[in-house]
Amino acid sequence: MGNLFKSRSCVVHVSIPSTTENTPTPGTRPSHHLNDEATAFFNPWSSSVLSTTGSLKSNQLTVASRCKEIGFAAILKFIVQFTSPRIPKNVTELIPMHVPAWVTPDTDADKIKATWMGHACFVLELPAPSGATRGPRVLVDPVLTARCSPFNYGRPRLAAPCAIEDLPDIDIVLVSHNHYDHMDTITLRKIEQLHHPHYFSTLGNHYYFSDLSIPPGRIHILDCFKLTCTPAQHHTSRGLFDHSKTLWGGFVLSSDPDRSDKQFSVYFTGDTGYRYVPDGSNEKDMPVCPIFKELGNKFGGFDLALLPIGCYMPREYMSSIHASPSDSVQIFKDVKARRALAMHWGTWLLGSCEPVMQPPELLSQACAEEGIEDGSFTLADLGRTVAIECEKRDSLSTGL
Ligand SMILES: [Zn+2]
Repeated sequence: MGNLFKSRSCVVHVSIPSTTENTPTPGTRPSHHLNDEATAFFNPWSSSVLSTTGSLKSNQLTVASRCKEIGFAAILKFIVQFTSPRIPKNVTELIPMHVPAWVTPDTDADKIKATWMGHACFVLELPAPSGATRGPRVLVDPVLTARCSPFNYGRPRLAAPCAIEDLPDIDIVLVSHNHYDHMDTITLRKIEQLHHPHYFSTLGNHYYFSDLSIPPGRIHILDCFKLTCTPAQHHTSRGLFDHSKTLWGGFVLSSDPDRSDKQFSVYFTGDTGYRYVPDGSNEKDMPVCPIFKELGNKFGGFDLALLPIGCYMPREYMSSIHASPSDSVQIFKDVKARRALAMHWGTWLLGSCEPVMQPPELLSQACAEEGIEDGSFTLADLGRTVAIECEKRDSLSTGL
């Protein structure tokens, strides 16, 4: 069903699905669904962590059964291995930060504008349709509070370029999954009060939006550009008993050649691993997640990819669900991105133990090793808007 809504800059065409979530037909269950009700999920690839029985189901288990599966010795080893990284005193100098200006020159009207707000949160402004003052503005995985935690303590933010109230008008919010560093109900509540945007997320997450009194009519699929929810190798939970009961994923935003006179494509991975690297193994020998090459082939590459580079140590425990900088450079190549900005580092301490400033160092090493030295995969300064040129092409792939 077609519909229109007016953002502050342009009319956006939307299609409202018949239900707020797409429930698969019984018997046609996708490979990452564990049941016909779409209330439990797992990573169906050999690049995900293997259980001790050789099954691929570690990510579907409850906390208790996961502990049993992983084994007490392995948990003890993790605790012994883990050392919380020290936060450098001058961290705010080491990670450049600007107060966002939200104003870009008219010459950038046809470009994608990306502003890193810390971790996986970006403000994206897509190319302006002809006659519009600006393109649709998309807020990705918004967590703009002082902590990302279910409690009033722990996980303090290292730096923030601006307050929620200082964001520009927002048309669309994308939430890749329900982990606290990607979905924050305080941020979402404030965004809803200020902007009344349209929300997109993965299966099972409607509860969080409806609990914030967001009308179900604002959960829908856009036509003015295409939005595709893409697979990722990860898991979900916000408590002790909801492990992987909601889905995780990433997003592709691409222009619709039938409706848009400007062409663009953006890929946001969400949280993802690339390959499971157990202790004592050579990571180059480990199977890699096949989805990235698939996406690169199906979409014909991307003008911009937002790729994670942090929260990867210890590798035994983190590699299955979080990409290291070298993994991320491989993802960059697999998805055929022309430009990428790094994310998922430098904002929260999330239980990984790599030094705070190690991800950017390893990223530049990995780029050099892979011959990506032209600045096409770089860090983003907090709060500084980067304008990305879109490749001119006759037609875009229609995606998955
Ligand atoms: Zn996550």
